[in-house]
Amino acid sequence: MQESLDITPEAVNQAAEAMIAAKPAYRDLIAFYGRIFAAQEDARQRIRLEPVVIPEDLLAIRRREQLPLLPVSEMAYDPAAAGVLLGKICRIAVDSGTGLSNSARILSLKSAGMDPLFRDFLNEDESGMTRAAAGIGVDPQALAFFLYHSLRPALRCCARQLSGFLTGAPVWEQGYCPICGSPPGLSWLEGDGQRSLFCSFCWHKWPLRRALCPFCGNRDQERLLFLYSDEEPEYRVDACASCRKYIKTVDARVLARRSYPPLEQIASLHLDIKAAEQGFSAGIPVSPPF
Ligand SMILES: [Zn+2]
Ligand SMILES: [Zn+2]
Repeated sequence: MQESLDITPEAVNQAAEAMIAAKPAYRDLIAFYGRIFAAQEDARQRIRLEPVVIPEDLLAIRRREQLPLLPVSEMAYDPAAAGVLLGKICRIAVDSGTGLSNSARILSLKSAGMDPLFRDFLNEDESGMTRAAAGIGVDPQALAFFLYHSLRPALRCCARQLSGFLTGAPVWEQGYCPICGSPPGLSWLEGDGQRSLFCSFCWHKWPLRRALCPFCGNRDQERLLFLYSDEEPEYRVDACASCRKYIKTVDARVLARRSYPPLEQIASLHLDIKAAEQGFSAGIPVSPPF
């Protein structure tokens, strides 16, 4: 089944309902993230970004050296839209009654002055973020969660604009995102078995050969392993015996329900547990703060 990241909020809800029917053990997790992703798809339609300009000479160097187009710190976002979305996501988290509810309640009272925090987050300024979290009285990990999810639709819009710079570029054979340089969060098989990776940060999707570890570049087929179970033919774990990292893979060719890749990535924690039991570690942080 063909996936798309750019779908309507209603379609996100339908994907969430189909997932809950197939995986009832994840009901609460899927319902929570489904509401957040639907709010993001709704927000995406109103985001206005100034196009990012990359000078020709810099672009030529980055293409030649297989460097990502832009550091995360320079990605564009819409502060007003991010602020509005933050309020909505806080309300969803308060309603959820999860471990995030308390931080959400505190953050939702802080209606102004969030823009420097969005900037600190993109600058990966950990000490600034820790200070800010302490000042507000919220957990730093929860703060990062709310900031990221409020920025995510803009990051995707920005990545889409930037992807225009990749047209005609040499084939990208790296395991990190050609747009922002972040590691992949999910692997996707479709069509005639072509593999693509989704960036864990900007969700840009890029094709990458199957026999290649995206984390260490290992191409030795003998050292690339697959963990799977017959009960879930749509999922597998691609693990690397060289760097001991893994990435979760969705085989969209056998997925019979509507899907939304970020939901598949979250509601498959049993695969993370299985990989950890075999001694592999995730290429990106596993547990969503929930
Ligand atoms: Zn990216
Ligand atoms: Zn590896």
